[in-house]
Amino acid sequence: MTIVRIKSPKNNTLTDFAEEKLAALAEAGRRRVLHETATLDGVSVSRNGKNYINFSSNDYLGLAGDARIVAAAEAGLKELGAGASRLVTGNHLYYRDLESRLSTYLHREAALVCGSGYLANVGVIPALVGKGDLILGDKLMHACLIDGARLSDASFHRYRHNDMDSLATLLKKHRADHRHCLILTESIFSMDGDKANIKEIKSLCDRFNAWLLVDHAHGLGVMETPSEPDILVGTLSKSAGAYGGYVAGSNTLMEYLKTATRSMMFSTALPPTVIAGAAKAIKVMSEETWRSENALANARYFSSLMKLPKPESTIVPIILGSEQLALAAAAYLEEQGILCVAIRPPTVPEGTSRLRISFSALHTKEHSEKLAQAVQTFLSKAQVACAS
Ligand SMILES: *Cc1c(COP(=O)(O)O)cnc(C)c1O
Repeated sequence: MTIVRIKSPKNNTLTDFAEEKLAALAEAGRRRVLHETATLDGVSVSRNGKNYINFSSNDYLGLAGDARIVAAAEAGLKELGAGASRLVTGNHLYYRDLESRLSTYLHREAALVCGSGYLANVGVIPALVGKGDLILGDKLMHACLIDGARLSDASFHRYRHNDMDSLATLLKKHRADHRHCLILTESIFSMDGDKANIKEIKSLCDRFNAWLLVDHAHGLGVMETPSEPDILVGTLSKSAGAYGGYVAGSNTLMEYLKTATRSMMFSTALPPTVIAGAAKAIKVMSEETWRSENALANARYFSSLMKLPKPESTIVPIILGSEQLALAAAAYLEEQGILCVAIRPPTVPEGTSRLRISFSALHTKEHSEKLAQAVQTFLSKAQVACAS
């Protein structure tokens, strides 16, 4: 008797499963790998023994390696881990200073710091809305806003990117059937660098009795803080050059979120050294406004060299379309000593793979010129027109 072993997906091992998934990703040109990268200074990194000018970091203000901030973090290094969540024994005295600086900087009554920007969104959104409520979010908003919306059990629809008619249509269609309504957007969109029309969104919120949550991840320290949102969410990991997430709003709202944000309640507090460094970063950010001015001027200079529209932020996308073309562009730049990682689905929609260039306060004119030259050479070689 012969025994036929049928290899069905049901009895595959987990390793078989992973192998199939990896093969499918490779087939689609979406297999990703981790590259060991060492930071040399605010704008250069080394990979495999080669040095690059870095145009893919979100350290827009060049604060991650700032000696004063590193010194503040070092001074806060009495122990490494916090040992428990903030509600247990992890609420280090440094939090008070960081949260008061943040709330002042953001012009809000209070701020609450949590593990990361991702954790802030997946924790805060379900604390605000649930079953029977409505969430409307921008089509291009960040994955963690989407994940927060999904976790909340509220009914969830997305409006066309920055399209107020689309938002108004969804409000007219769905608002009346739900108790609370929360609108989600980013202040500056992470992969496109454009700004949300927060004033108009807010007036729709007023008209339809909805709350507005704005993710300020790429706006902190780079643009003026919008006054309209009922609640701001953001990260200390980008322009603040540190790590961690935050929420800001009224005293009462923050008081409520302390005992309603599951990602904060059930996750260990930040290492005290990080809180100390982040507090110093907010101080430096608020005093040295030349940093954001430089970063924005660099983005504008590059865009003018490339004859692209004037950028609204420190982020300039060069949309190339296919994954293959974006990867080829990134590979060409790498040969030229420039690190600018190709951004592909699922981070951006199908057919919009791109170079996402982020400018820092510490880039020089020469850096931007070298980048523009290299991108133009690639585009003429590949014979494609670039759209932004
Ligand atoms: C990076 C980012 C986050 C996540 O912040 P982390 O602190 O890195 O987890 C959240 N929202 C947006 C829009 C982001 O770009």
